[in-house]
Amino acid sequence: MPRMMDALVKEAPGKGLTLKQVPVPEPGMGEVRIKIHKTAICGTDVHIYNWDPWSQQNVKPPLVIGHEYVGEIDALGEGVTAYHPGQRVSGEGHIVCGHCRNCRAGNGQWCKDTKGVGVNRNGAFAEYIVIPATNVIPINDGIDEDIVSFFDAFGNATHTALMFDVVGEDVLITGAGPIGMMAAAIARKNGARSVVVTDMNDYRLELCEKMGATHTVNITRQRLEDVLGPAHMVEGFDVGMEMSGSDKALQSMIANMRNGGKIALLGIQQPGADIDWNQIIFKGLCLQGIYGRKMYETWYKMMAMVEGGLDLSPIITHRLPYTRFEEGFAAMNSGNAGKVILNWMD
Ligand code: NAD
Ligand code: ZN
Repeated sequence: MPRMMDALVKEAPGKGLTLKQVPVPEPGMGEVRIKIHKTAICGTDVHIYNWDPWSQQNVKPPLVIGHEYVGEIDALGEGVTAYHPGQRVSGEGHIVCGHCRNCRAGNGQWCKDTKGVGVNRNGAFAEYIVIPATNVIPINDGIDEDIVSFFDAFGNATHTALMFDVVGEDVLITGAGPIGMMAAAIARKNGARSVVVTDMNDYRLELCEKMGATHTVNITRQRLEDVLGPAHMVEGFDVGMEMSGSDKALQSMIANMRNGGKIALLGIQQPGADIDWNQIIFKGLCLQGIYGRKMYETWYKMMAMVEGGLDLSPIITHRLPYTRFEEGFAAMNSGNAGKVILNWMD
């Protein structure tokens, strides 16, 4: 009889998750087993919980979900020498092939054969997870585990926010989800003059202000154009970070960029998204798609920024034991949540 553990499992197609016992995974050659301390709920987990069209296409039940976590090395597979049991770690959530052109060039984020932890293979909403040793991120002492639990998402925000130089620039972030909130803090920390965030949810926009946004715009009652003057902008935004996945948001961003501005695209657009390509051409805009985190340079920058005083704690709105996961997913689904942390140590 294998050793068993608790895990949150998508058992079959349809809404919801099941807390059940599954076998503790064994690390194979080149892998490590991590004992999970804390996890955080990502928007992707909410998509899988809700069983939306994207999940129906990409997730094959039964599957343990979750990919934002902090824990400690528990067991080493054959050939792993770089880590030791008890070491505090997180893990990069994209598992890449290691031998395609981009992987070999140190651009794993562009691997042609990426597999997602908790999406294409068993994930971290469990007492233990097994990942390749190459994906382990050792965590320096002194960093709060609550913050580390969502480093994976912080990595999305960091990769996007540092894609273009923001020193002395005026930045527009569309979408005040947890990633937009973190991007606002990162852009300010890295020298942006103004950081304007748009959304239609006041609760989230207030969190953005706590994170350092200089201006927020609730698009249900304010016009983005109206903050340009108060923010001392003459020609428009220098850098845009699209973090909503809405084509309306991207349209308003494109319309309010200065000529020659730069846009980093993280939000996942719907099929048939409506974009005015001629504005991009005539304004000479530069568009950069963002996927995941730069492997592994983004992780280095993240840890350094937190150690250098970047405070992400205002976005933590819920801390729950994993057995109360339903409350966590309900909070995420309501929109009135920042990061929701599930504790696996109780
Ligand atoms: P989220 O869904 O929590 O936040 C998106 C926010 O956008 C919400 O607060 C919503 O109210 C707001 N929004 C919707 N329409 C808007 C509009 N027209 N104008 C302004 N705001 C609008 O998402 P998140 O977890 O913060 O992630 C941000 C985006 O990044 C999502 O689209 C997510 O799917 C995507 N994502 C991409 C990657 C990647 O690797 N490319 C990784 C993680 C997340
Ligand atoms: Zn590859």
